[in-house]
Amino acid sequence: MANNGTNNGPSIAILGGGILGLSAAYCCLKQKLGNVVIYERDDDLGGLAGTFEVCGTKLEKYHHFICKSDKVVLNQMADFGLEKLVNWADCRMGLFVHNKPYSFTTPADLLHFDALEIISRLRLGAAMLSLKFKKDWKPLESVPAAAWLKKWAGKRSYEVVWSHLMKSKFDIYENKIPLSWLWARTNRRSGSKRRGSSLEHFGYVKGSFAVLIDEYVKRIRDMGGEILTGCAAKSVSRNKEGQFTVESESGERMHKAVISTIPLPSLLSVATFFTDGYKTRLSNIKYQTVLNMVVVLKRNLTDFFWLNIGDGTFPFPGIIEFSHLRDIEDFGGRSILYLPNYLPADHKLNQLSDDQLLDVYLQSLSKIVPDLEREWVDGAHVFRHPYADPYYTLDYSKLLPDHRSPYKRLFVFNTAQIYPITRNVSNSILFGQNAAALLKQDMGAK
Ligand SMILES: Cc1cc2nc3c(=O)[nH]c(=O)nc-3n(C[C@H](O)[C@H](O)[C@H](O)COP(=O)(O)OP(=O)(O)OC[C@H]3O[C@@H](n4cnc5c(N)ncnc54)[C@H](O)[C@@H]3O)c2cc1C
Repeated sequence: MANNGTNNGPSIAILGGGILGLSAAYCCLKQKLGNVVIYERDDDLGGLAGTFEVCGTKLEKYHHFICKSDKVVLNQMADFGLEKLVNWADCRMGLFVHNKPYSFTTPADLLHFDALEIISRLRLGAAMLSLKFKKDWKPLESVPAAAWLKKWAGKRSYEVVWSHLMKSKFDIYENKIPLSWLWARTNRRSGSKRRGSSLEHFGYVKGSFAVLIDEYVKRIRDMGGEILTGCAAKSVSRNKEGQFTVESESGERMHKAVISTIPLPSLLSVATFFTDGYKTRLSNIKYQTVLNMVVVLKRNLTDFFWLNIGDGTFPFPGIIEFSHLRDIEDFGGRSILYLPNYLPADHKLNQLSDDQLLDVYLQSLSKIVPDLEREWVDGAHVFRHPYADPYYTLDYSKLLPDHRSPYKRLFVFNTAQIYPITRNVSNSILFGQNAAALLKQDMGAK
């Protein structure tokens, strides 16, 4: 079906076919801002929320769950008539430390947490509670989370509960991560506990986020949008009239506007016309890679959905047994384990082959489950991404580039700008909506 947008001239280029790019394309078309071309480098759409086939079903390459506070994604699913596919489950959270898994969700769990002396438990509880009730995140972004935790929860609590998590998530940035990051993390989860329950309540999409991605694709195509997969934008240039040319596998195309949703280093490598000043601004944000292993197991490992690791000898910060959230029958009775790791690009784990990585990880997992045998493993899949997350450094908001670039009708929207709440699908959808709204404003369209 042809697009009946108001503008028959050059179309809007969307760089990146992740959730943000799809949401932006859908909103531009729906508001008839002009036709749309999505350039996606990979063969599949969905980016970090993309999926793969396992045990006869689709599953996200990286663990994905939904919190009650993720209103935008829940509303989008409802708008598409897909709300019945959002399922919820009570999940047990834990912490493995001193060779023992502890339940770690409620104040009662904390009181029973004998890996810490009682005074440290009380201090930790009081510190986390006081953080939860802070209204304004702005003053928190100049305070290092590690120093704050050591001061208020105590050095001992930091060592036992936080040190390994912070080191393995942030590496050399451990002492520079702002308290606003911890505040946002605590807040996003705060609505996920049901009154009276000792468990966290999380959601997932039955059939995976592929359901949402497919629905966007269908609607974008129905409105005449063009989606080019396996088609990286190789360069973006701009002429004197302010029009943009995107060069890709499909040749050179002229566009009246560009919405970039690709990571900032990728944008810097394709845009040919940025001034040195703007390049410097965008390069201030540094990213970490993600190395994730999905292990298919013939049986469950633990009773926990999410088991954080406080033991510094482990090569990962936590394990996520996804089949405690999504029905194990979806995977033919197999248990699905995610082992995500955020790492600097040159980290030694990034140099290992998939098989070597499995060996290293199984060795550590057997510290949690001593009778674990290799034959429990029914498959392992490794996914790597160079730009998973930015490093949120102190006063991060000052580093953030505006969504309106210095170049008229070039808009910059990506996960690194989702702050202080850290990146999630809900906010990526919102950013897509905001991108269309800004374009509309700048076009003077009604
Ligand atoms: C380990 C992990 C766990 C997560 N867990 C959750 C969770 O539990 N819940 C939740 O809500 N969110 C979660 N997220 C976050 C969520 O996946 C992201 O916020 C969201 O998918 C980001 O979408 P995006 O479109 O902004 O970016 P991306 O998904 O990064 O999309 C950008 C797209 O641009 C493409 N691209 C790059 N360069 C070019 C180029 N030159 N030309 C064309 N295309 C290009 C990429 O291939 C990619 O498809 C998680 C993320 C990770 C990494």
